[in-house]
Amino acid sequence: MGKMTTHQLYDSALDLLRTLIRNACVNDFTPESGNEQRTAETLRDFFNDAPTEVRERLSIESIEPSPGRTTLVVTAAPARDEGLSPLTFFGHTDVVVVDEQHWTQPCFDAVIEDGKVYGRGAVDMLFITAVHAVVTKWAASQSHLRRPIQFAALADEEARGGLGAGWIAENRPDAISWENCLGETGGGHIVRDGVSRCVVVNAGEKGAAQRRIHVTGDPGHASAPWGTTMTTGILGEVTMRLASLSIPSDQPLWEPFVQAFGFDPETEEALISHGTSDYSPFGEMSRFAHAISHTTVAPTVVRAGGPINVLPSSGYVELDIRPTPGMSQDDVDEHLLEAIGELRSHCRIERLICEDATVSSTESPLYHAITETFAELFPEEKVLPIVTSGGSDLRFARKKGGVGYGFAAHAAGRTLGDIQAQLHAHDEHLHLEDLDLTLRAYVGVTERFAGV
Ligand SMILES: [Zn+2]
Repeated sequence: MGKMTTHQLYDSALDLLRTLIRNACVNDFTPESGNEQRTAETLRDFFNDAPTEVRERLSIESIEPSPGRTTLVVTAAPARDEGLSPLTFFGHTDVVVVDEQHWTQPCFDAVIEDGKVYGRGAVDMLFITAVHAVVTKWAASQSHLRRPIQFAALADEEARGGLGAGWIAENRPDAISWENCLGETGGGHIVRDGVSRCVVVNAGEKGAAQRRIHVTGDPGHASAPWGTTMTTGILGEVTMRLASLSIPSDQPLWEPFVQAFGFDPETEEALISHGTSDYSPFGEMSRFAHAISHTTVAPTVVRAGGPINVLPSSGYVELDIRPTPGMSQDDVDEHLLEAIGELRSHCRIERLICEDATVSSTESPLYHAITETFAELFPEEKVLPIVTSGGSDLRFARKKGGVGYGFAAHAAGRTLGDIQAQLHAHDEHLHLEDLDLTLRAYVGVTERFAGV
């Protein structure tokens, strides 16, 4: 592809990214928030603006499970239909809330300063979404396109997709092709001694095993507590035990992750085999490294009691649990009961949101297209597939039997930790060179996988 064309695509992506930031589709987890309709309209205009012969190859569908919560699905038809399965881009359009007083830049003005664009969603994930739109439109203008390219501009990702990808997977599964999917995020680097050693692809993500543990004790007057089984005491003890619980995992992508850092053999072996609880060798990545190698258990809500003079007879603790690949919901409960020990007779486990971890094979043609593209952009680096600690809409594709990879490109030296630190952060900002790299990465994969 010519330099001139890349330049035009870049300008178009930056322009779109700034508009998406300004649209401020803030999802506060209530059904009335988000208003992704604004960005759906922006994108519809963007595609309608194409020259007639390009527009004719595009089909656009709007899906709105709830007023204002619009997902736009745009499909670019191949030049000649060979029956190949589409390449699908999952780009969410909602962003998380801001705490404005902690920002030094306006949150939604898309200000550009020192080669960076500031604004909520700049990194999570509007720059990728903007690239998806631009590449889809570009692909529709290519006479050699062999596969359909599909772009799903998804609402409600931040609230787990209940009015976006999750709703579509459940109610309109045929509206999207789930077979070959690219989404957030990926493209950070593993850097050691100032040298970028690996570039990361998100091949999988941990699951959810949210639990509420109900605790019961003796009711009574607080003026005479002697001899009672106190709900609050048990609840505190159970919470303490669970707060220190984390379950090591043998998920297969852990070993290559550790090896990517090039530690001395002793440290490497101890970390791989879970023979140490010291994750400090990972530096800024220590919490992340622990998270991707363990089913983590975080008590986040504890409730009991009302009037100060009454012994409460019940209470509960809620746990945000993130299972690694291979850990079932039953396994999770077994570990919880074991940790609670003899106090289990006072406890009842209630399951809240449950989703197993998902991982895509790295033996797929789409993954090969990614590694070839990265080899061109970062010839000195290995490509490292990882399981990430957070969730994304790609899990719906994996659950439907497709492959889903978090894919973007950041400049060498930009660490996985740098990128993680931008997610949901104050003064969220994207380096503009990363927009350019991500655009080139998506063009590269589309050329390789869809034969443009
Ligand atoms: Zn995101």
